[in-house]
Amino acid sequence: MTEFSPQPSCQDPVEAIKLDVQSARAQIMAVITPINSWRSCALKEALGEVLHETIYSPVQVPPHHNSAMDGYAIHSRDWLAGIHSFQLAGHAYAGQPFSGSLTAGQCVRIMTGAVVPVACDTVVMQERCEVNGLSVKMHEGVRAGQNVRYAGEDLQIGDVVVEQGRRLTPADLGLIASLGMAELRVRRRPRIAFFSTGDELKSLGQPLAPGQIYDSNRYTLFGMLQRFGADIRDMGVVADDKDALRAALLQASTEADVIITSGGVSVGDADYVKEILTELGQVNFWKIAMKPGRPLTFGHVGDAVFFGLPGNPVSVMVTFYQFVLPALQQLAGEPIQEPLLIKAIAVNDIRKRPGRFEFQRGVMRTGAAGSIEVSHSGDQGSGILRSMNTANCFILLDDYCDGIAAGSEVLIQPFTGLI
Ligand code: AMP
Ligand code: MG
Repeated sequence: MTEFSPQPSCQDPVEAIKLDVQSARAQIMAVITPINSWRSCALKEALGEVLHETIYSPVQVPPHHNSAMDGYAIHSRDWLAGIHSFQLAGHAYAGQPFSGSLTAGQCVRIMTGAVVPVACDTVVMQERCEVNGLSVKMHEGVRAGQNVRYAGEDLQIGDVVVEQGRRLTPADLGLIASLGMAELRVRRRPRIAFFSTGDELKSLGQPLAPGQIYDSNRYTLFGMLQRFGADIRDMGVVADDKDALRAALLQASTEADVIITSGGVSVGDADYVKEILTELGQVNFWKIAMKPGRPLTFGHVGDAVFFGLPGNPVSVMVTFYQFVLPALQQLAGEPIQEPLLIKAIAVNDIRKRPGRFEFQRGVMRTGAAGSIEVSHSGDQGSGILRSMNTANCFILLDDYCDGIAAGSEVLIQPFTGLI
């Protein structure tokens, strides 16, 4: 089993360790090993899956020189020799090549995508030709080689088409189809078990007694994991109870690559939560210098990677995007990508105290001058999920920042592209 550092000491296994966001992420990423098993999959089923093996082109794409226009195919030699009026010798349609031969001064009527006859090297678009019976007169300005798409101009034999680790997009599917490949190898999806902890939580469909609330974290987690492309095991709500928690964690650890829980990791929770994690696995309790999402638990339970996210609904989403998602991407075998950050102009003052990295929620839009502007998405409390639901980006405020004045530049991270 992998060692984590810094470690909680044996004498005091529940002591939370203070960390900045970058170091926490680096420690997590350092111990995530990509899944290496794969399955065969039909091309249409592969959208959004991670490619297991690099695909090299077995063929040239396009396979033959073909016309980029509807027009007339000639040999430029004739044009350069002064022939401007050609004699029509036949037709070439897409899928139906012209198979005859040509003599000097002859041309072939050709359609877009049709094979350029071997005797030709140039296509003159029909708008630049005057046709009179079998005579085709061409306007000035013909250039040798124009309007021809060359065999192999998209892909040569042996070219890398799509690299292993790529999460397949619609363009990838089209490109792979152009090679004639109907099947490919994709990685097994990460198996992720998750549950919510808390005596106050009720699942949907059950009435609420005083002091109880509906479990919303399981739904945001479900949404984020589904979008990511995980093989999901939803284990429901687990009470703040030692035995129930132990049983749930043990079961999850035998079924999943990753276990995600929410709630029960903040200071003030019953110590047994931490006690059980320490008993079952090797787990770090971190106090991350961030807002929202300060407490985070990370490590292993059995062979499964464990993330104990905070209970507050916004903290769940922020810690998922900042820590869990990059780890899952690495587990799925995707290359590590730095988050896409954009500079935007703050429309209003943004309040912030130094000391913690804040992920405030914002609404970005294109401003009048074409620059990107960002405003707040309302109350920023870590329990106020509406601040996420009305937002389309995070506003990133580093540890040292002590507020942003309206009109200043600030870094944002768009939600689009997160998953
Ligand atoms: P905890 O980390 O367990 O102390 O929870 C922090 C706050 O988040 C409390 O107000 C909890 O009621 C709330 N909370 C915890 N889990 C959930 C959940 N699954 N859905 C909604 N709210 C939750
Ligand atoms: Mg709780």
